[in-house]
Amino acid sequence: RATSTGDPVKCYVPSMGQIFLRRFQLVTQFRQALETGQVSVHYQPKIALPSRQVIGAEALVRWRHPEFGRLDPDEFVPAVEATGLVDVLTGFVMERALIRVRQWLDRGLRLSVSVNLSVRNLADEDFPTRVAAALERHDVPPSLLTLELTESGVMSDPERDLPVLRRLHALGVVLAVDDFGTGYSSLAYLRQLPVDEVKIDKSFVLGMGTDLGDMAVVRSIVELGHSLGLTVVAEGVEDDAARDQLVGMGCDVAQGYLISRPLSEDRFEAWLRARTVQ
Ligand code: C2E
Ligand code: CA
Ligand code: CA
Ligand code: CA
Repeated sequence: RATSTGDPVKCYVPSMGQIFLRRFQLVTQFRQALETGQVSVHYQPKIALPSRQVIGAEALVRWRHPEFGRLDPDEFVPAVEATGLVDVLTGFVMERALIRVRQWLDRGLRLSVSVNLSVRNLADEDFPTRVAAALERHDVPPSLLTLELTESGVMSDPERDLPVLRRLHALGVVLAVDDFGTGYSSLAYLRQLPVDEVKIDKSFVLGMGTDLGDMAVVRSIVELGHSLGLTVVAEGVEDDAARDQLVGMGCDVAQGYLISRPLSEDRFEAWLRARTVQ
């Protein structure tokens, strides 16, 4: 199956048509997937440094597709984001996450939950009102909800997004800039955003052990974040060495496979029990 140019390598790459078709299928099936229980939320713990105390978890969406199997959110989230369905996705994850926070509070555990937003959520003027209503409905203090926005997302159209960010911030929820270091924003620009937390992109944290450049990036984000009064979170913490280096730099929070992979609701609860009852 050589192409007209005679290049055989192209045979192993899915055609644009195939990619488009699968994306189309995912988008058209997503709503039904939500309704039939194929979509769930996993939780990955965040710990304070240096104490290692569990302070909360990030909510991460999962889709078990009847035909394609376990789908990577990096594949279906962008497809869903490109449609009007993103508010359905965000609403679903936030709803689940706030139910969890409420249950933890009822057991005397004050843990926060982080929910990933899409830029599309910021383009929606009613979004802050819906967040406020959801917090009220579940009787969850706003400070226990963190909303994560990617650096590239939040910088894409500041004039449009800033009013919505300000309204979210005024509710008292915590705003975090995700994947920090991967975008093109100037560091000084962070100062103008109403954010409370910066998450160092995992690529730098993963590279820290072998690459002095990555180490320098991590160190400077920790310093910059602190000089702006932000909480600094490192994701992608996979080993003791990385954690120890982050402690040495004064990083506030760690998340990564060293602590735990993202876990289903039940498994997260079991993890939490084993961890807190000592
Ligand atoms: P993210 O927000 O940067 O989430 C962190 C990703 O890093 C997760 O991938 C997590 O499983 C992975 N990770 C955590 N610790 C480690 C580690 O120690 N090493 C390595 N190599 N990876 C680690 P996941 O769950 O596959 O999610 C991928 C992306 O999909 C997320 O990146 C986020 O951008 C998006 N996403 C996930 N859930 C949602 C959601 O509910 N809404 C939206 N809008 N996006 C979501
Ligand atoms: Ca995130
Ligand atoms: Ca991230
Ligand atoms: Ca990411």
